[in-house]
Amino acid sequence: MLKEWNENIYCNYPFIPSRLKTREVRVGNILIGNGHPIALQSMTSTPTMDTSASVEQCIRIIEAGADIVRLTAQNIREAENLENIRSQLRKAGYETPLVADVHFNPKVAETAAMVVEKIRINPGNFVSNSSGKQVGPILIRDRLEKLLEICKRHHTALRIGVNHGSLSERTLNRFGNTPLGMVESALEYLQICREFDFHQLVFSMKSSHTHIMVQAYRLMVHRMLTEGIVYPLHLGVTEAGDGEDGRIKSAVGIGSLLADGIGDTVRVSLTEDPEKEIPVAKELVAFFDHLKPSDPSTDFPDHGMNPFRFEKRRTVPVANIGGTTPPVVVSDLSHESVDGDILNSLGYTRDSSTNRWTPGDQSPEYLYFGPRIPPFSLPASATGVLDYKKWVEVAHATSYVPLFTLAEYLNSSLKSKTLNLVHLDTTNFDVKVMQKLKAEANVVFVVKGRSWDDLYHTRKCILHMMAHHIDIPVILWYETEPTTEERHILKAAIYFGALLVDGMGDGLWAGMQNAQDVDFLNRMSFGILQATRARITRTEYISCPSCGRTLFNIQETTRDIRNATRHLKGLKIGIMGCIVNGPGEMADADYGYVGSGPGKISLYKGRQLVRRNIPSERAIKELIKIIRDNDDWVDP
Ligand code: SF4
Repeated sequence: MLKEWNENIYCNYPFIPSRLKTREVRVGNILIGNGHPIALQSMTSTPTMDTSASVEQCIRIIEAGADIVRLTAQNIREAENLENIRSQLRKAGYETPLVADVHFNPKVAETAAMVVEKIRINPGNFVSNSSGKQVGPILIRDRLEKLLEICKRHHTALRIGVNHGSLSERTLNRFGNTPLGMVESALEYLQICREFDFHQLVFSMKSSHTHIMVQAYRLMVHRMLTEGIVYPLHLGVTEAGDGEDGRIKSAVGIGSLLADGIGDTVRVSLTEDPEKEIPVAKELVAFFDHLKPSDPSTDFPDHGMNPFRFEKRRTVPVANIGGTTPPVVVSDLSHESVDGDILNSLGYTRDSSTNRWTPGDQSPEYLYFGPRIPPFSLPASATGVLDYKKWVEVAHATSYVPLFTLAEYLNSSLKSKTLNLVHLDTTNFDVKVMQKLKAEANVVFVVKGRSWDDLYHTRKCILHMMAHHIDIPVILWYETEPTTEERHILKAAIYFGALLVDGMGDGLWAGMQNAQDVDFLNRMSFGILQATRARITRTEYISCPSCGRTLFNIQETTRDIRNATRHLKGLKIGIMGCIVNGPGEMADADYGYVGSGPGKISLYKGRQLVRRNIPSERAIKELIKIIRDNDDWVDP
């Protein structure tokens, strides 16, 4: 008999790190789920018909540390050629399992299922009729059962890989383009697989939107728990982009779920050479791979938050923090020897005739100076933060506010009339004290974090605040020990991201012990806010990682489009390598640049095709013209 689960259950327990136990699935020589190490994956970007290039790229991916490699199989001949790629790899001594990525043609999946160890199909386009339209449940069942029969015979695993951007019309009509639609789409296939007694299954719920992706995976876990069997989950954020942005977005989406204990395999999708995805995936997984698998708690808390729908925690604003205002950013300038020039690296520009500073789109609102009053005057748009003991010297100046310890605040008779920042210890909080501070109406909590444990403590503390209607805004503060920039980005993006995707946090304060690179920390903070859609300050590029279907050089084109449009604010531009999946996969982009044939590009305004098959040499100019025609362009 199935358990009566709490209607919000989505992981073992939200305040204790532990890994969700899933059913074991074999993919060649790799075991997925049931507590086995989280498997790392990447996907080739070479044409699958180019055997030697594909084999060489597979080897680079494997040597980087991949456990599984995926290749695209767009037609029967590519599916058949997987045999050549596979046998050359085996001859070279590589036993790594291969996955065929198949869309639109079940016969291709059937062919590939006889060759490789796993097939990925997309329920949004597994079967379509001759005019490319999706078909009804009877035909889907018929074709899926044929594939399952082959998979059973050849011991081939199957990933039901749902994409937010390519749900079937039938699903969209019934459930909309939502996490629920994604989950229902997967469950329809799961039902058929279970009736056919096929269990070598893995599920994924990818989106380029980190909220959607996190909610969809959580909801899928919830539904599988209520069905009484949890299959392994393959995690990924689609079209995450490249560089810092791609790493931040991947860490927010994948890392938040790993912190929930969800995830048995991971693919980080970067618009970079595929082997570069593996070290990033390795770092993300290493933070949580030690978690012990266990069954979910039967005492799952009814914590007053819906984990399947985004809703920002309701707070009463204090100054410009909280309420409906996007999260503020605090820059830590407490190290010695800062002078006014530091403001240049935080995006402020000074007018030499008036000596006034103007903030940029990514300039922090708060500047923390610790125990020192800075030797320069602050920009009018910024507020200085001083440790309470120093602040008392300038308490009359409105440009500074105090940072208290809780004891200092409770014992002090001198407080700011506008804003008092108060450290809150989330391992030892007292609801009565918080209620007392709520009554004073000008307090904002600063919640410190230095470890993953602090992430769970902070979540628990904020949920208690919600349960007791303590609507004091919270600034999330996270500091790592000295480490590489990349590791710091990944850790901070997970820490902040896991809370922001749950609507928690009215400000970000990022630090690295002994680090003075305020420019880097500030850029990263705004990058995390952008990746969680908490605060949009620049154009977002939803660029595909490329695969064997790609029709142009995605990396170069992404760079060129970024150079031409990076000054725009708040737009989402999709850059997709192929017309087959591109328009669907870029989902909620405002404009789309999609490869539609060799040397040919099609351009989109939202989901609407506005230029078809134009030569690639003039495609970026045309894209700019379309942005201009729609009044979204400003001159740099
Ligand atoms: S959009 Fe097309 S080219 Fe890009 S990864 Fe997806 S299938 Fe491959």
